[in-house]
Amino acid sequence: MNIKAAHKLGHLGPFLSKQHPEFLKIFEAVNELPIDDAHCHLVTDREPSMTPKRFLERMSLAAMDTVPAYFPAGIYDKWLSGDEAVRYNLNMQFGIQEKIDGIIGDVSQSIYVKFLVKEMAQFLTCEPNLEAVMEARNDRTGNYWDYLRDLLQDVGYENVMVDTGYCEGASVEEINRYDDEIHPCRMRRLARIEMVQKELFPLEISFEEYEQRYTTRLLDLLDGNGNYGKKSYGMKSYLLPYIGLIEPLYDREVARESWRALRESYHKIPSMDRQSEYNLSKDLRRYNFTLALEECLKRDISMQIHTGDGEAPSVILRNQDPFYLEEVCRFDRDGVMRMPKIVPLHAGYPSVGKAAWLSHLYPNCYFELSVMTPFVHQNLFQRYMQVMEVVPLSKILYASDAFHVPELYWLAGRWGKRYLAKALTEYVVGGSLDFDEAIEGARMILYKNNRSLYKLD
Ligand SMILES: [Zn+2]
Repeated sequence: MNIKAAHKLGHLGPFLSKQHPEFLKIFEAVNELPIDDAHCHLVTDREPSMTPKRFLERMSLAAMDTVPAYFPAGIYDKWLSGDEAVRYNLNMQFGIQEKIDGIIGDVSQSIYVKFLVKEMAQFLTCEPNLEAVMEARNDRTGNYWDYLRDLLQDVGYENVMVDTGYCEGASVEEINRYDDEIHPCRMRRLARIEMVQKELFPLEISFEEYEQRYTTRLLDLLDGNGNYGKKSYGMKSYLLPYIGLIEPLYDREVARESWRALRESYHKIPSMDRQSEYNLSKDLRRYNFTLALEECLKRDISMQIHTGDGEAPSVILRNQDPFYLEEVCRFDRDGVMRMPKIVPLHAGYPSVGKAAWLSHLYPNCYFELSVMTPFVHQNLFQRYMQVMEVVPLSKILYASDAFHVPELYWLAGRWGKRYLAKALTEYVVGGSLDFDEAIEGARMILYKNNRSLYKLD
């Protein structure tokens, strides 16, 4: 065991003493492997230093992007950027600080946060409490990009598949900066269908023109440098949480009618009735999705589809069932199932078993581990067991869905490797896998499957 490996085993702490002796061997080998992150987002250095509360707000699914929706439009942003007097007045009127304290207070009492504090304290060599961790972390983020690189390299990141459709309005310069700064790790971009729709939906143009612009943009994303100046390795769709069951749509007249309905309502004030809002553009979105998937199929590139997970306030949880992707996996025409490469995201969490079963049944459907990794923390062990009980090792993709703060890449990598090693140990001890098969399985999950799916050099 080399010094670095010994150092990392030391970090396993109390966890280690309870493990089967075989675990040590397996963990040591898995821990040395590189990682490809099959789905994540970029981070920027806009907010390098953070208070503990702000850090928890930024990385919690209960708070990220949700907090502004608990106040009338624009109020929270005003509060965030306001001086003391502005904040005082807004607090008096809307109780903003009190509400955030309540939300973050609960977040801070999750085992997830208590565990990540202990883990980060080891990486940062400081006391294992949130204040000390944030102080040590804020010391490091003065050199933001050095810190990010240290985190990525500590867990072996080599490629990140970045969904540029969620990047908090980052400019081309900010995106390229991230792309440059993470080296030797490499950024590979994925194009989100909704990115194009966001550009085109507000335009007062005919359906024909919409259709033509949509196609031009789609081809530029796939074949040109349409993804903020670079090529896309694959596509991403956010359609499932909007509409539920996705049935491919080829009928232009139905799509045209949907475009007309969207035009009529577009400039009206949005309501909190998400379902009726999405229903207006449902057929247009199905049509766009179908066109995009046809193009993916032609090029043999994959389509990632948001599945499971939360991301309040915009998603509709009841729509997120992995089985709603069955028609897309089939993608049949003229009596033939055509096998586009489908990657349901976020482990379908919490419907992990359904997402796993979908990938078991459809050879062209993959299984991706993000959000569940790292948010399920210690129980990743059980979840990985559940995934591996039915999904071939050659179809499971490690991913983090890291967003907002750089620690999420690291945490996902650290826990992803540890609990994958633990689950593989179970199979080795039980006699289903020998040691070499287990390590080869880890290679596939952590980087090989991603490289072959996206044909990376
Ligand atoms: Zn994502």
